[in-house]
Amino acid sequence: MLPVLVVHGGAGFIPKERVQMSCAGVQAAVRGGYSKLQGQGSAMDAVVEAVTLLENDHHYNAGLGSVLNAKGEVEMDAIVMDGRYLASGAVSAVRKVANPIQLARLVMDKTSHLCLTGEGASQFARSMGVPEVPEESLITEYARMRWKKNLAADANPVECQMGKMGTVGAVAVDAEGNIACATSTGGMLNKMEGRVGDTACIGCGGYADNRVGAVSPTGEGEAIMKVTLARLILFHMEQGRSAEAAADEALAYMKDRVGGLGGVVVVDPQGEWSVRFSSLQMAWAAAQQRTLHYGLYTGEHFTKNIDDPN
Ligand code: ASP
Repeated sequence: MLPVLVVHGGAGFIPKERVQMSCAGVQAAVRGGYSKLQGQGSAMDAVVEAVTLLENDHHYNAGLGSVLNAKGEVEMDAIVMDGRYLASGAVSAVRKVANPIQLARLVMDKTSHLCLTGEGASQFARSMGVPEVPEESLITEYARMRWKKNLAADANPVECQMGKMGTVGAVAVDAEGNIACATSTGGMLNKMEGRVGDTACIGCGGYADNRVGAVSPTGEGEAIMKVTLARLILFHMEQGRSAEAAADEALAYMKDRVGGLGGVVVVDPQGEWSVRFSSLQMAWAAAQQRTLHYGLYTGEHFTKNIDDPN
């Protein structure tokens, strides 16, 4: 079954006019990441490549296009994890970097820490030669419009989160059986300044272990953190459940126990994979044996040859 790459573009509700671009973006990201897997690239190279492509695509809530916090600013969270050694790196509430996922990888590779936050993360970025970009260059008209709408006194906080575009994430198994995950987000719309979501927290916004599998979640971060969603799914897999059954059980638990909706992409060490979500939609794409798999609504699963450009 090996190797495989599975990518998501966020759980939630995607406004009609943005559906096509959301689906195209995850397919482009999976093609980019999969080409790494087919070359000399590792699972880690593939997930970072896929997430970087999605951070650069303004249709997603990560990197360019991130949602704004209550003050109208961009603060982003990102995580990577390498299933060989349980090595991980994350950044939280980081500002003015175009690709938080690459900074998270540097935290993993170049420090003895797992997570750097706020100004400390920015200082580390500077010390690594990561260019600082103007905050304005990460903000889209769409993000500003959503922010303003949510500031209105009569705004419905639940409804307002619905139109927000997706967090992005990826999981992969490479030809050597190594497993990795990556997740990146601008977080929840109009969040408080300094809010750290699930994405930066190991076991919540991502987990990878060569012995069990990998998960990249998306959804309401506070709910994901309460149930440590990524690790909960791997726990069920350790008990013998398939990736799909484990994901369904954990998502149902999150809904019942704390009322949270979300979605996940999951792989196991054999290269079996699964995409499950309790939200209305989640744009996703996967590549294995030169077949591209993709879908948006529950139960949707289309396939085509990976070289098919349409
Ligand atoms: N989990 C993200 C967060 O709470 C948001 C999302 O996945 O849509 O920051």
